[in-house]
Amino acid sequence: MRPIAGVTANLSVYTAFTEPGDVMLSLSIPNGGHITYGPKRVGGTAGSVRGLDVEYLPFDVNAMNVDVDGTKRKVERLASEGRKPRMVVFGGSLFLFPHPVRELADYLKSMEITVAYDGAHVMGLIAGGEFQDPLREGADVLMGSTHKTLPGPQGGVILSWERYSDRIKRAVFPSNVSNHHLHHVAGKAIVFAEMLAFGRDYASQIVRNARRLAEELAARGFKVLGEPMGYTRSHQVVLDVTRNGGGLAVEKRLEESNIIVNRNLLPYDPKEGRSYRDPGGIRIGVQEVTRLGMAEGEMVDIAEFIYRAVLKGEPPERVAADVAEFRKGFNRVKYAFDSTIDAYEYIGLRR
Ligand SMILES: *Cc1c(COP(=O)(O)O)cnc(C)c1O
Repeated sequence: MRPIAGVTANLSVYTAFTEPGDVMLSLSIPNGGHITYGPKRVGGTAGSVRGLDVEYLPFDVNAMNVDVDGTKRKVERLASEGRKPRMVVFGGSLFLFPHPVRELADYLKSMEITVAYDGAHVMGLIAGGEFQDPLREGADVLMGSTHKTLPGPQGGVILSWERYSDRIKRAVFPSNVSNHHLHHVAGKAIVFAEMLAFGRDYASQIVRNARRLAEELAARGFKVLGEPMGYTRSHQVVLDVTRNGGGLAVEKRLEESNIIVNRNLLPYDPKEGRSYRDPGGIRIGVQEVTRLGMAEGEMVDIAEFIYRAVLKGEPPERVAADVAEFRKGFNRVKYAFDSTIDAYEYIGLRR
């Protein structure tokens, strides 16, 4: 519980399971990787802080997923060059479908490669029994943030097996954290209590909402990634807006319409000359609107707002006013205890 953010959790895992100079395999940023996996030349945490030698996991753009056979071939090739990876990190920030942990864990472990899973984005889905179950599928360690689909205070968390506990604790303190920011510890306890009580309902509604929003956007003419696999199994919906003015313009137009999304690199952006400043994609997360009580019906409304703002070209002020009116009906946090007292009772603390 002591990592103060997902970045600190990742760095602590790198510290526990690798030495500087070791080879690490993870997704590149356009394929969904996070800056914490980056090599030194791009200022990524793995390269510039832990001194890891980063190689990228092969990625299948059609399936929007890690390529299982390609990964085995890459490990074999690196091993034959005397650069066998020490660790593989699954997970990412652009994350539509479960990663093939089950398919690769035994193979990787037979090669004495640590299997890590960065669940920063999907931790709440995992807690709620959706998406995938990385530790039981074979991961050695699961790390992540406490503030993405897990709806807690900002912080990090590491989950692993008893056999690794001492080295992980040592890697957190004294290596990466001296004081663990006590103000968010009780908040983390409450979010775990809430996930025990409401997590299944919350996670399953998030995934149903994302799927529905993707379908409604596709039906209105947007190019939605992951179509062959049903668009998404997470909280995310990813649009290719290269035909609609690009990520920067669409993000801005939606913001003027009171709809907050983020522009995002797509796997094929670098090849087509686009950078993170004006990438080809838009990434939408439905976890917050879901926590305000929105369900499939509201996803239809949201798709329509996005359509009006981006494809139909209505003035953003007009859409913004309608969005504000629509939003008025959703002002209470759901999947939560009515009071903090309920949460403390749930987790059995004495008052
Ligand atoms: C956000 C994110 C992190 C870092 O999380 P912070 O808690 O913001 O430091 C790490 N990994 C992935 C995949 C992320 O998306």
